Amino acid sequence: MNRTVLAADLGGTNLRMAVIGEDGKILYRQKHETPKTEKTDEIINAFTELSQQCISAVKNNGEIVAIAAAVPATINAEDGIISKAPNIPALDGFRFSAAVSSELNLPVILENDANSAAVGEQWLGAAKGFKNSICVTLGTGVGGGIIIFDRILRGIDGTAGEIGHICVEPLGAPCGCGSRGCLEQYSSATAMVRLARELENQYPKSILQNKTRCTALDIFEAGKIGDDLALEVFRQMGFYLGVALAGLVNVLNPEVIVIGGGAAAGWELFIAHVQEQIRKRAFHEPAERVKLVRAELDDDAGILGVAHLAFEKLI
Ligand SMILES: [Zn+2]
Repeated sequence: MNRTVLAADLGGTNLRMAVIGEDGKILYRQKHETPKTEKTDEIINAFTELSQQCISAVKNNGEIVAIAAAVPATINAEDGIISKAPNIPALDGFRFSAAVSSELNLPVILENDANSAAVGEQWLGAAKGFKNSICVTLGTGVGGGIIIFDRILRGIDGTAGEIGHICVEPLGAPCGCGSRGCLEQYSSATAMVRLARELENQYPKSILQNKTRCTALDIFEAGKIGDDLALEVFRQMGFYLGVALAGLVNVLNPEVIVIGGGAAAGWELFIAHVQEQIRKRAFHEPAERVKLVRAELDDDAGILGVAHLAFEKLI
């Protein structure tokens, strides 16, 4: 029988699950809304119910040997505890692995979602073949995962890798983390929309002036046809991303930096600005070495990565 892992991406909005083989092939997938609730039980019930659906759907298709969950949270990987989950506060301090394991009778692996995505990209995606990679996800926020010689960089409390909260503008925009001028306030999809609003008075001819609810996708579409305001937004998000990455290049000497998330769609409009800052600011040798590549696994990076961790740790 083929051995498989049931991998889950437990996000603030959606709970996505997939049954994944040892080769990374996705055999089955299913999705459900994450319950909006303060009750831990309701979330865990939704999780175990969807798990049972997946398990029965593939029962003739291999043996599920573990559950693997990627969550947007600071976690204690060793003990399977969710320390802090800003988007799902009902799970703060919850012994996730023990609870799910006793419901489903399978071993459970727990990992932070950005770390999982970094592992996924290194296993099967844009960082395949490398041992030292940094993965940056430009979405609603800016997520980060750092892998050094095939090991996730966690720090002593499991909080390492928060690339989105590197300060790039000391007196800049306030951030949800309590600091100011974090990368997330300049290079996320959310930040791009704010930058467009802040700059629009200087670009009266921009087609974005006519948008009542401008999105990052609108900015991308406008940039593709040469709209000056859109191009300035991409220049700024690329500049700030480059400033942060140049620092990481100097500190960590990575082989590859993988950039993904919704805002990475505008790759050709910002990547030259990122490269310019790395070239200007980082030491010559690591700057020459590092490759900037676009993520390849999209939304599946996290579930694939955490499934890989389960195969490695439990089997
Ligand atoms: Zn911050």
